[in-house]
Amino acid sequence: KSRAKRFERGESTVTFEDVAGLENAKKDLQEIAGYLRDPEHYRKLGAKIPKGILLMGPPGTGKTLLAKAVAGESDVPFYSISGSEFIEMFVGVGASRVRDMFESAKRESPSIIFIDEIDSVGRARGTGIGGGHDEREQTLNQILGEMDGFDPHEAVVVMAATNRPDVLDAALMRPGRFDRKITLDLPDKRARRSILEIHSREVPLDDDVDLDRMAALTVSFSGADLENLINEAALLAGREDKPAVDMACLLLARDKVVLGGEREMVIGD
Ligand code: ATP
Repeated sequence: KSRAKRFERGESTVTFEDVAGLENAKKDLQEIAGYLRDPEHYRKLGAKIPKGILLMGPPGTGKTLLAKAVAGESDVPFYSISGSEFIEMFVGVGASRVRDMFESAKRESPSIIFIDEIDSVGRARGTGIGGGHDEREQTLNQILGEMDGFDPHEAVVVMAATNRPDVLDAALMRPGRFDRKITLDLPDKRARRSILEIHSREVPLDDDVDLDRMAALTVSFSGADLENLINEAALLAGREDKPAVDMACLLLARDKVVLGGEREMVIGD
């Protein structure tokens, strides 16, 4: 509906432990979580904390997961909205929704605002049909205006995600806006192994399962693909009345994910 999704304190139970790999991103974001836990402490030290953080990376690499983990680690309210939701709206609705969301987040500061798919509203201006007076542009202007208007005492961190940083309006990247950028890459073999481990925590695995081998066989899979693979394997085991997921299930599930994503099969890494 017309409200930002909101998680109460303690509701976002995701922590950095649920995020495999992405060590540099986690290190940067630990600092932000520390600030949100005790903004006053940082303020007394005169430390300037970035207001806007842009998470860039291919689909399914954990951008949303990381933003939720920052909320979980710092135990603050988390507001999330997706840029793509604004596209079909009547002129003015997007901007007022943005205003409402920032108002609530400020009232409950310290807090986090997460804007997924920011490229949907944050494309370089003046390139759209309609001479630049469209809904998208108004929404973007509202976001920028809200960020410029933050009071230094309002500990609201805005995180935004995109897999198209190349199309973003330069105005978004100005100092005081999304001036901290974090790039997420597809997981390497080691990270793929830990992602497989995380997502099979609740899944009984047969003794023949070799997660190292699965990690080697899933080059170019994203975290979301790997989560999907484990789930497909569990469904297969269920269908075949197996007491646990075995290697045969995992290999079949892998093929299914590869075909589903029309991804090239690459072996190695
Ligand atoms: P999109 O661009 O499609 O919105 P995203 O980068 O926001 O993708 P997420 O929604 O965070 O991706 O990831 C989808 C799911 O994949 C997560 O809920 C999580 O279960 C799994 N996942 C992705 N990356 C990781 C990771 N590094 N560690 C553990 N799980 C991961």
